[in-house]
Amino acid sequence: MPADAPITQDVMTIPRKLPAGPTNLVGLTRPQLREALLAAGTPEKQVKMRVNQVWQWIYHWGVREFDEMTNLAKPYRALLADNFVVEIPEVVSKQVSEDGTRKYLVRIAGGHEVEVVYIPEDDRGTLCISSQVGCTLTCSFCHTGTQKLVRNLTAAEIVGQIMMARDDLNEWPEPGAPKDETRLLSNIVLMGMGEPLYNFDNVRDAMLIAMDGEGISLSRRRITLSTSGVVPEIARTAEEIGCLLAISFHATTDETRDVLVPINKRWKIDELLQALAAYPKVSNSERITFEYVMLHGVNDSDEDAHRLIEHIKRYDIPAKINLIPFNEWPGAPYKRSSNNRIRAFANIIYQAGYASPIRKTRGEDIMAACGQLKSATERARKSRKQIEADAGLS
Ligand code: SAH
Ligand code: SF4
Repeated sequence: MPADAPITQDVMTIPRKLPAGPTNLVGLTRPQLREALLAAGTPEKQVKMRVNQVWQWIYHWGVREFDEMTNLAKPYRALLADNFVVEIPEVVSKQVSEDGTRKYLVRIAGGHEVEVVYIPEDDRGTLCISSQVGCTLTCSFCHTGTQKLVRNLTAAEIVGQIMMARDDLNEWPEPGAPKDETRLLSNIVLMGMGEPLYNFDNVRDAMLIAMDGEGISLSRRRITLSTSGVVPEIARTAEEIGCLLAISFHATTDETRDVLVPINKRWKIDELLQALAAYPKVSNSERITFEYVMLHGVNDSDEDAHRLIEHIKRYDIPAKINLIPFNEWPGAPYKRSSNNRIRAFANIIYQAGYASPIRKTRGEDIMAACGQLKSATERARKSRKQIEADAGLS
């Protein structure tokens, strides 16, 4: 990708017929659900109760059929069934890695596909979800960034990924069973495909649904949003979502960051650091995670490690630095730093007083690792185009 490739926030609109017919209740915020139920004829004086009941069925019990919403009178269930559906993305395929990591390919409206990754660990289970099909940004080390096709996911498609995983893990509560506090799916990271802060409203609505105590009920401290650095939206994230923040930092000079994370041309390192410094106070959260992909000979020198610390100290940012060994993908223009180099880099950071965990690469055998996600259909699409070009057809 050339260093001067344009940065654009414009998302291609993919023309598609809006499906006529019932509205999907998944992804509606509480106020939107209220409006929808009123519009379908729910009496005003009942609507508050109905919102609570329907909400709990969908997000606490994981029910998709109105007929199973047994505390609603039959005629009301029929009214709901006439007007609405409860729909989540369809699972197209599931792969399970040797290490237990699960990668799902899910299909969303318009025939697009996104990937969702579940990573089991001893003390938690993390679901890595996507916010867009592809990504308009063009980070030069990221496979998703090479994918041309982009569309924002709806709030339903975002929260639907969590519901899909709970289905697969069989993790909806059993009526009458004792409350089980251990959760297979305990954490969410917005680190799949896409730049979540370029789809702010839908990501916010989906995360507020996931945090709602009457439903999926994940604490905001168990949700981490990763951004490449959309500076104006960082303050909004603190105010309107309040989850943990991870920043794809990846370079310590503007010169290098302009190439690796081209959004840096719009918002430079200093501006970004200022926004990060304000985040913990506004969101009342703890440390910010600095993600740093280790690229051989590009950003992995001792000087880089020292500069990284200087940046963080200069703005007094409570931070942990997550070092990510570069995950290679077909045609990638970089190599992973050696293990010794990564350890030396981590040590400099650790000596300076910051946690510097090296991210364990998970699910590599099924191409589920960070930055490797790119839908198979899109790969096929591009190669077909390529074939046509080669044959002089386009
Ligand atoms: N768009 C957001 C979130 C998705 S990427 C962002 O950029 O933050 C999640 C993380 O994986 C980011 O830190 C990203 O920079 C990193 N990543 C991308 N490609 C990678 C690769 N090939 N190897 C290792 N990490 C990668
Ligand atoms: Fe998009 Fe994040 Fe990949 Fe950059 S690293 S291209 S922002 S998904």
